[in-house]
Parts: sequence; structure tokens; C-alpha cells
Amino acid sequence: MQSTIMANQSEFASFNLLKQPIALFSAVKKQLIFKNESFDKLYKTSGLATSPGCNKALERKLLDELDCIYQGTTESHLFNIEVESNRKKYIYEHNAYKKKNFIVVQAHDVTELKKTQYLLNSSNSMLEKYSNEMFMLAHTDPLTKTANRRALFAKFDELKNANTRLECSISILDIDYFKKFNDSYGHEFGDYVLEIFCQHIQKLISPRSFFARIGGEEFCLIQEQSDKEDSTNKIQSILESIKDMQLKSPTENKANISFSAGVAEYGIDGMTLDVLLNNADKALYYAKQNGRSCVIPFSTDLFEKRADIIYAKDVARSNR
Ligand code: GH3
Ligand code: MG
Ligand code: MG
Repeated sequence: MQSTIMANQSEFASFNLLKQPIALFSAVKKQLIFKNESFDKLYKTSGLATSPGCNKALERKLLDELDCIYQGTTESHLFNIEVESNRKKYIYEHNAYKKKNFIVVQAHDVTELKKTQYLLNSSNSMLEKYSNEMFMLAHTDPLTKTANRRALFAKFDELKNANTRLECSISILDIDYFKKFNDSYGHEFGDYVLEIFCQHIQKLISPRSFFARIGGEEFCLIQEQSDKEDSTNKIQSILESIKDMQLKSPTENKANISFSAGVAEYGIDGMTLDVLLNNADKALYYAKQNGRSCVIPFSTDLFEKRADIIYAKDVARSNR
């Protein structure tokens, strides 16, 4: 970059007092008018990082970057150039802008700033990764890797907030006579049954359903866009499939699983998850009392009938 308009040199001599590399180009054609000593030193002693040792490549890069101002696309342009000097890489931010008849180019070393930004970004992404892991741990059941009770409540809130006309059902599924797996084959086998049970159900439910472990051998299933009748039928077919599974116990005996379930519908059997779970639990209780291995939709008259039955039994007992 040879300065051709030498007459102006003394006019700009005060720029030599600055440590910051500064150059002036003609605004009309690509022609260097002045460069201060810092700029001269930078462009003489450095090469472009991609072609070290070649300061011509560095000059070419700078002129290419100025193209957009010469072509009138913009009045100013901020860009970084990576340079190499004494086998070390530096990043120089260049601020080029039009001022009267000149294009002023100011460069400054942002290597340390970029390093700090890089370190901050990587520690931010590490923190983000760590907080995502913490979130997963707080919302996942460690044994079965399904969602836990906390995740269930969060999911229900999310569904309610996203949809003012939410249609869904809430069911509780409880494995029948689960204790016998522990008692007959040990706690480890009981854990294995829980894992297999969850894996099997996850495969059977639709992507719009949400399955969570809410207690020892108790699970909750949210089925979106599904009323009580539809949910009951779907859970009934899950039950048939679970009953067909044959697990090999440690003593090579075949073990079968079944569950009982109670189903409640949002908007009909409750508006909050607590109430819906409570009513699904009542229907589940009814299922357990009525032979297990069945799915019962909640209804208030279900309990009126039960109350009648209990009352009738009590009357019969007192009349004895
Ligand atoms: P029901 O048909 O009435 O539901 O009978 P059940 O045996 O399934 O229910 P019960 O409440 O009598 O027993 C549940 C057992 O589940 C008791 C508890 O020790 C066991 N349990 C709870 N959590 C775990 C677990 O994480 N692993 C294992 N192996 N057992 C568990
Ligand atoms: Mg049980
Ligand atoms: Mg239980």
C-alpha cells in the first residue's frame, strides 16, 4: 500500500502520536493516503493468519473488506482480521467509515477481549448444560427413567397454559399384587418388573400422552384429546398387552403382570390435577375392590352405588 498523495502527510502527522493503527484511504478510489506508524508496523510485521508471513495477503484482505464502502452499499464497515506475528495469532477489529473525502480505518487489538468472550461463552454453555442436567435429574425417576411426580405437575400446568380448551384425561395405573414380586423373588426383581413395565407402556402410548411414576408401583397417564371413554378403552388395550407379557423370574418361573386403573376427565371430574388424581384414585380403589386387572372410569354415582352397597351390608349386619 503505497501512499500516493504525499502532500498531505504532514497534515496527518499528529496521528503518529496515537498507538492505535489508523489509515486513511481516498473515498473516491482505492488509494491509501496516509497510515500512521502503528498501522505501518502492524501491516509490515504481520501476515494474514491463514497465510502467515505474507503481509501482501493481509493488505489484500483489508482492501477487499473496504469494497462494500467503495461500492456504496454502506458508509461504514466493522470487521475482524486475524493476523499472525512472531508465530502468535491476534485478532484486530477494524472500524472503517466514510468521513468527507476519506475512508478512515481504525484497527485495535481485541485478542484478549475475544479470549474472554470465548471463555465466558464456554462457561455459559457449561452452566447451561449443568442446569439442564439438574433439571432432568429433578424431573426423572432414577429407576425407570420415566418422568416423576414433579414433571407430571409441570406437564399439566404446561398443557393448561397452552390450551384454554384443554381436553384430556388423567389416569392412575397401579400394578396388581406387586409386593409378591418382591416377596417371592427379591427386591431386585421387583425393580426389574418396574423397569420393564415402564418400557412396555412407553412403547404403547401415543406421542401426545405423558407417562409418569408417581409412587412405588403407581403411575399416572395423561392422554390429550381423549375423553374418559376413549382413555378407558386405550388403557384397557394396554392392560391386555401387559397381561400377555411373560417375565422370567430368577427361579425360571414365568411371572405375569397386570394392573388396575382409574380414569378421570379434565373439566368433568376436576379442574386441578390434585382433584383429578384424587378422583382417578377413587376409581382405582373401586377397581382394586372389584377383582383388580380392570380399568374403571370415575363417576360420582359409582360411589353412590358403593355407598349403597356398604350401607346395605351394614344394615344387613346390624339386622343379624
Ligand atoms: P395391590 O394390588 O393392592 O396394589 O397390591 P400391591 O402388592 O401392588 O400393593 P402394596 O401397596 O401392598 O405393595 C406395594 C409394594 O411395592 C410395597 C413396596 O415395598 C414395593 N415398592 C415400592 N417401591 C418399590 C421400588 O422402587 N422397588 C421395589 N422393588 N419395590 C417397591
Ligand atoms: Mg399395587
Ligand atoms: Mg399402590
